[in-house]
Amino acid sequence: PDQATGFVAAAQANFRRVTVDSTGGNEGAQLLCVVRALLKKIKRRVLVGDRVLVSSVDWENRTGMIEDVFERKTEVIDPPIANVDHFLVLFSMEQPKLEPFTLTRFLVEAESTGIPLTLVLNKCELADEEALSTWKDRLHKWGYEPLFCSVESKSGLGFLEGTLKGKTTVVVGPSGVGKSSLINYLRSDQHYDEIDDLYSEGVKWLGEQRVSQVSKSGLGRHTTRHVSLLPLTGGGYLADTPGFNQPSLLKVTKKSLSETFPEIRQMLSDSASCSFNDCLHIGEPGCVVKGDWERYPYYLQLLDEIKIREEIQ
Ligand code: GDP
Ligand code: ZN
Repeated sequence: PDQATGFVAAAQANFRRVTVDSTGGNEGAQLLCVVRALLKKIKRRVLVGDRVLVSSVDWENRTGMIEDVFERKTEVIDPPIANVDHFLVLFSMEQPKLEPFTLTRFLVEAESTGIPLTLVLNKCELADEEALSTWKDRLHKWGYEPLFCSVESKSGLGFLEGTLKGKTTVVVGPSGVGKSSLINYLRSDQHYDEIDDLYSEGVKWLGEQRVSQVSKSGLGRHTTRHVSLLPLTGGGYLADTPGFNQPSLLKVTKKSLSETFPEIRQMLSDSASCSFNDCLHIGEPGCVVKGDWERYPYYLQLLDEIKIREEIQ
């Protein structure tokens, strides 16, 4: 048959690499696909992680055309990935040093999607026992149970692998904390080399087309960021998303910001609710969210940032 279903494992420019998932003995086959023009017109973009129907499959040359996109469970905007069910927020204890406000920005961004997250602190071999236990207590008060690991000294990685099993996880964190090192350690896709060649050929070809168009029109060169899902040894996928390491907080509103802080969620569930429905917890009468917790100043700072953004829009 020249049709197959599968999911989009990688995207760059107009190409999608589809991993075939059922029927006909072709399970796991990789197809280099383009998206049907009609689909581009009537639907949203075809994202990495999307489940798709591929038609016009040429099994010998491993090419096809994406005909349809099935319904998404979840959709993350930045990086653009469909059907994500887990975030791994990765920071390092040292080099760069764990910085609480930067960490808060990443946590807020991940919390705002409503998708579960695991906080992991890497390079723990560079920190002493006391620093580890101080941060553990501190993060506990924020509402998180961090995992500690060291990719360098291979500690804490087995447990981490267990939490990733069977899930599609996006790794986020500032640059230099060890995201690529961790992903390289966990990935299991040696057998992808061949299709990757085909895929890069396609991308290169497209790049050349584009460069010649650009030089004609005199416009600046278009840059596309590459997103891909890498299979894990124990099952599940990790998103490799170079370049997506700045939380934009674009989906967070003044009102929804408070839902991204576990401390506030806790106060609201413990002791009834604030008098005003649209309370922003900045000293309104009858507000049950007090200012006696460590990250309250961060909450206020992010609230200001969002207010300014909303006024400009
Ligand atoms: P990314 O920017 O988050 O992808 O970080 P990289 O994976 O490129 O790592 C940045 C640097 O940290 C590299 O030199 C890694 O070798 C180093 N690194 C990664 N994990 C560890 C660790 O557990 N301990 C130490 N000391 N260095 C690490
Ligand atoms: Zn309030």
